Amino acid sequence: MRILVDMDGVVADFEKGVLDTYRNRHPDKSFVPLEQRTSFYVKDNYPNELQPLVEEIYLAQGFYLNLPPIDGSLEALSELTSRGDEIYICTSPLLSNPFCVQEKYDWVINHLGKDWTKRMIVSKDKTIVHGDFLIDDKPEVKGVQQPSWEQILYSQPYNSQVNSMKRMTWRNWKSVIDS
Ligand SMILES: [Mg+2]
Repeated sequence: MRILVDMDGVVADFEKGVLDTYRNRHPDKSFVPLEQRTSFYVKDNYPNELQPLVEEIYLAQGFYLNLPPIDGSLEALSELTSRGDEIYICTSPLLSNPFCVQEKYDWVINHLGKDWTKRMIVSKDKTIVHGDFLIDDKPEVKGVQQPSWEQILYSQPYNSQVNSMKRMTWRNWKSVIDS
């Protein structure tokens, strides 16, 4: 089985990276805790005047490199691999951050090891990548073609209203993928 695994919000904790930095830098400003997020894009949950402060965090050098891993993700990736599944990290880079692509590769080297960089697929369009499953936290993964994969939604507070597909986290992935 070939499983494509999204990076931000599934393996690398983009939202924690943004929120921790934001609260550190702006202790006096209002913030939106992860559990209260309703929009997929963090910026959209903030009022207009605060949006630039949010945006500058994920546009900065070092942001992607220093993201913490999502709990259980690294262990699950190695377990999936060791049981014989073909795993690829399938990530769409933020093109407005000029450091993003390199830092995603460096992140994978740091947390998973150099061999995993051969399992990286960096594409703005995931529909042209073939697989049995795509594990992704984005409610709508669109592109130029009808995907060959079935999406499994990685549960996050901002996608909790979506009920059109299977969902999972790294706590229950086995029962979902094997069902
Ligand atoms: Mg994602």
